[in-house]
Amino acid sequence: MSMPTPAPDARLAEAVDVARAAATSAAAPEPVGEHIAVVADAERLVSHHFACSRAGYVGWYWSISVSRAPDGEDVTVNDVVLLPGDSAVTAPEWTPYKDRIRPGDLSPGDVLPPEDDDLRLVPAWSAGDGEEQTPDRFFAREVGLGREHVLSLEGREMAADRWHDGAQGPDTAMAKESKGTCGGCGFLVSLAGPLSDRFGVCANGMANADGQVVSFEHGCGAHSEARLKRSASAPALPSHVHDTMTRDAVDLTPPAVDAEE
Ligand code: SF4
Repeated sequence: MSMPTPAPDARLAEAVDVARAAATSAAAPEPVGEHIAVVADAERLVSHHFACSRAGYVGWYWSISVSRAPDGEDVTVNDVVLLPGDSAVTAPEWTPYKDRIRPGDLSPGDVLPPEDDDLRLVPAWSAGDGEEQTPDRFFAREVGLGREHVLSLEGREMAADRWHDGAQGPDTAMAKESKGTCGGCGFLVSLAGPLSDRFGVCANGMANADGQVVSFEHGCGAHSEARLKRSASAPALPSHVHDTMTRDAVDLTPPAVDAEE
């Protein structure tokens, strides 16, 4: 429950000149604008507000905090600050780098470590730090272990949703127009691991998705079983005929000879 704001202390509310002198000193060489408000911050603690006339500070104001002792009449200046008013132009709220960066923004040399509590990752069993290629380590690498972290269930489902809803999913115009799906295409390279039942990698250099993860339900016109329709093929020519019934018209006129030859 918020405390009720006290009425401004009368002695401090009258001390406009003291507050203006403090503001003028801070704002020099620019002058201070009109007195726009007096605000009670607490008992015997009052702020005087003056308009700021500095270029580029439209809507800002000087706030001069003044106070006095309980049984004293002397006014003390506590604080002089320049603050943005409701109409002030201010910088947008700071957004941390990790929240500003979008997928695809990384440039060579950029570093984007995962959060400590990144739910996409879980600790994994480690096969050790050595370089020796023991059967254990070989197996661990094959099944995705031997790393410090692996994809969590959430991370896996987030990736699956993203890939399913993306350009290589089943809902694109390309997939809808395709007569066959990637799941039945000879150019599909199988993945290993838990997402292998829904996704693979396209290995058709003529396809838009070459080298990318594709949903089994995606598809394109470069499907391994795609065939041109008859109307799109070169028209079939009639077979040759040896005509023995009609005469061909042949021009027997000799070619003109130059008289000087
Ligand atoms: S060629 Fe087309 S249908 Fe075949 S895997 Fe690649 S994207 Fe899928």
